[in-house]
Amino acid sequence: MASPFPRKVHDHQVCIKSALGDADILCRSRGVRLTPARQRVLEIVWRQHKPTGAYQILDILRAEGNKAEPPTVYRALEFLMQNGLVHRIQSLNAFVGCCYPSEQHDGIFLICRSCGIAGEIPSMAVNDVVMDVADSNGFSLSSISLEAVGECPECRKPIQEHH
Ligand SMILES: [Zn+2]
Ligand SMILES: [Zn+2]
Ligand SMILES: [Zn+2]
Repeated sequence: MASPFPRKVHDHQVCIKSALGDADILCRSRGVRLTPARQRVLEIVWRQHKPTGAYQILDILRAEGNKAEPPTVYRALEFLMQNGLVHRIQSLNAFVGCCYPSEQHDGIFLICRSCGIAGEIPSMAVNDVVMDVADSNGFSLSSISLEAVGECPECRKPIQEHH
C-alpha cells in the first residue's frame, strides 16, 4: 500500500485525475449521478491533501464566477460523503478526499500539524478497539471518527537529516 503521506514534491495532477476517474467509475457502477457541481466540489476537495473547509470551497466556486450558495456546497459534500468519496475531519470541520473509495473501510486519520495533511489509514483494528470500549460500557455507537495529531514522515525528514 502506498504511503498515506505523499511526497512534498509530486505530480498532484495525477492524484486529482485518478480520484476523479475513480469517482466517475464508482458513481456509474452505483447508478448515482456525479453531476458537474458534485464533480467540481470533489475536484476542489482534491486540490490538496489537506482538509478543505466548506467555506473555502464556496470561496473558490465564487471566484470562478459561480453563484454558489452554502446549501449547494453542503448538498454536494453530503452526496460525496454518502458515496465514500470524501470524509469529514471532525476536529477541523473540513473535508478530504478518500484514498480508498471503492473499498468498504473504517480507519483513522493521522493529521500532520506541520503541513496539515490528513493521512488516511484504513485500519479496522483501531475501530474494533473503539467498538469494544463502547460495547463494554453499554454505549450504542452511531459512528466512529478517529483522528490523531502529530508530524508526518515527510515533515520529520529534514530534522532527522540534521542528527
Ligand atoms: Zn497529490
Ligand atoms: Zn476513505
Ligand atoms: Zn507533514
